[in-house]
Amino acid sequence: MSVVPTEVHLREAEGRLNITWSDGSTSEYSLAYLRGWCPCAGCQGHFQNEMTFVTDASTTLTNVEPIGGYAMRPVWADGHKSGIFSFQYLRELAVAPPPRRHEGVPDWGLLPTGTPSSKA
Ligand SMILES: [Zn+2]
Repeated sequence: MSVVPTEVHLREAEGRLNITWSDGSTSEYSLAYLRGWCPCAGCQGHFQNEMTFVTDASTTLTNVEPIGGYAMRPVWADGHKSGIFSFQYLRELAVAPPPRRHEGVPDWGLLPTGTPSSKA
């Protein structure tokens, strides 16, 4: 059974959103953080290798709409509301910013390190 929000509390004065989850845990987000990681195509473009943090947008939240029992959609004061935040994405965001994926880039840490170093 997936974890779902049982309570969503907007603390507008502090610019924060609190979510209580059905497993009893809680998450707290700054609104600028949530807005910055909006996952919609308009914010993230068509290149999904790396997520972009949006800074030039309203960080005032006017509403949060539930989406089909798996996600929620913040409605921002500038009218932007195309970002659908799945509960899983929100849970991940609460722990850390989205991973910046670099598929196809070699893991340089695993390359041989036998190159002689030139010490001056
Ligand atoms: Zn967006």
